[in-house]
Amino acid sequence: MKTCWLCGRNGAADPLDKHHIFGGPNRKLSDRFGLTVYLCHHDCHIFGEDAVHRNAETAQRLHEYGQRKAMEEQGWTVDQFRMVFGKNYLDEEDTSSVTASPCHLPLEGKARAAEGVGPYKGKAKGTGRVSSFRVLDMAVPF
Ligand SMILES: [Zn+2]
Ligand SMILES: [Zn+2]
Repeated sequence: MKTCWLCGRNGAADPLDKHHIFGGPNRKLSDRFGLTVYLCHHDCHIFGEDAVHRNAETAQRLHEYGQRKAMEEQGWTVDQFRMVFGKNYLDEEDTSSVTASPCHLPLEGKARAAEGVGPYKGKAKGTGRVSSFRVLDMAVPF
């Protein structure tokens, strides 16, 4: 059954609208990757205090939700998401967990990562999968 992404109601009192998580030029991409949600037309979509089209905080929460959903379903990294949608909506703390690093990189490490040299080169892409394959390989001889 369809329910409102924001409040969970079923649309009986306030009919549900389909909302594209990433609008404007990304509206078609939202369609293509299934990044749409249902929202109560009046309270949660257009007019309410917390409505997505009125409340920047709600919009940001929905963008974060949409990015995580896309990355999970498409197997994308933050960089790959950014390449498709043109923007990263997750804050730095969220994105650092994607690189499977428990702590923040030191400043010089960040600079080096940005230049694509040094020990952090290439770490941002597919780290999780590569390491899980490695675990499997190591397990074989035993
Ligand atoms: Zn909308
Ligand atoms: Zn609602």
